Amino acid sequence: MKNLLEIQNLNKTYRNFALRDVSFTLPEGCITGFIGPNGAGKTTVLKTILGLTPKDSGVIRFFGRDEDAGSRAVRERLGVVFDSGGFYEELSLMEMKSLAAAAYPSWDEQEFCRLLERFSLNPRQKIRTLSKGMRMKYSLALALSHRAELLIMDEPTSGLDPLIRRQLLDILREYMERGGRGVFFSTHITSDLDRLADMLILIDHGKIVFQEDKDSLLERYRIVKGDLGALNDSVLPLLSNLSRTAFGFTAVTDRPEEIRRAMPDALLERASIDDIMLSNIEGGKNYAAFAD
Ligand code: ATP
Repeated sequence: MKNLLEIQNLNKTYRNFALRDVSFTLPEGCITGFIGPNGAGKTTVLKTILGLTPKDSGVIRFFGRDEDAGSRAVRERLGVVFDSGGFYEELSLMEMKSLAAAAYPSWDEQEFCRLLERFSLNPRQKIRTLSKGMRMKYSLALALSHRAELLIMDEPTSGLDPLIRRQLLDILREYMERGGRGVFFSTHITSDLDRLADMLILIDHGKIVFQEDKDSLLERYRIVKGDLGALNDSVLPLLSNLSRTAFGFTAVTDRPEEIRRAMPDALLERASIDDIMLSNIEGGKNYAAFAD
C-alpha cells in the first residue's frame, strides 16, 4: 500500500505552543480521523503540512515525492477544506467556481454540478449569503471536483446538522470507492469517526500520542466497573480515567485480560472513542489524583 502523505519530525513553535517531532503516515485507501482536545495542535499540523504556516523543521512528503504542498504537482492532487474557505465573498458560487476550476487541469464540471444539486446549493447565490453548513458543502464540492487523491479537512462536520453530516459522510465513502485515495480530517464529533474512520491519530499538547487502526483500538480498550474495595496498587496502574460512581468506580483499561484476572467480579464493557481519547490525554489518565 502506498503512502499518500508521510510526516517526519515536524516541529513548529509559536510563542506559547509547540508541535514537537510530529510524525505519522497516511496510507492510501484509508480515512484517518485526527483527534485531540482543544488547543492540542490539530489545525497547526494541518496548516503546516499544507504550507499555510511555515514549519521550523521536519519532512513533509506528499505522494511519495520530496515535494510539499506548495508545488503545483502536489496541489493538483490535494483537496483542502478549511472553514474560512478563502473565497471572494461578493462572487456567486458559479463565479467563484470558475476561478477555482482554472487552477485544475483535471476539473470535472459534471461532478461539480452534480454535487451542487445534491447539496441543494443554488449556483447563483452569493458566497457572503451562505450559512456555515452551506459554505462547508460548497468547499467540499470544490475539493471533490478536481479528482483529488487526498482530501485534507479541518473539522468539516462541525456546526452541521445531522442530516447534512450524514450526507457528507456518504459522499466521503463514495469518494473512497474509486480506490487509491485517502481522507484526513480533524474532528471533535466522535460519532462521525465511529461511522467513517479506519484509522485514528491522537495529538495532545503538540505531540502525537498514537496512530492506530480504529477497530484495533476499540477491540483493546474496555470500560471497567467495580467495587472500590477491589482497587489496589497492582491494578491501579492498569486503569486510567478513574472516577467514583454511586456504586463503586468506573475506569478505562487497555489491558482487559489482566483486569479480568485481577478483578474477576469487575464488569467490562466496550469503550467509546471519547473514552479512549480521555484515557490517553493529560488530565484524563492520571489515577494518582483519584487514589488521594
Ligand atoms: P481546537 O480543537 O480548539 O480547534 P486545535 O487542536 O486545532 O484546537 P490549534 O488551533 O492548532 O489547536 O492551536 C494550538 C495552539 O497553538 C493553541 O494554543 C493556539 O493558541 C496556538 N496558536 C495557533 N495559531 C497561532 C498563531 N498564529 N500564533 C500563536 N499561537 C497560535
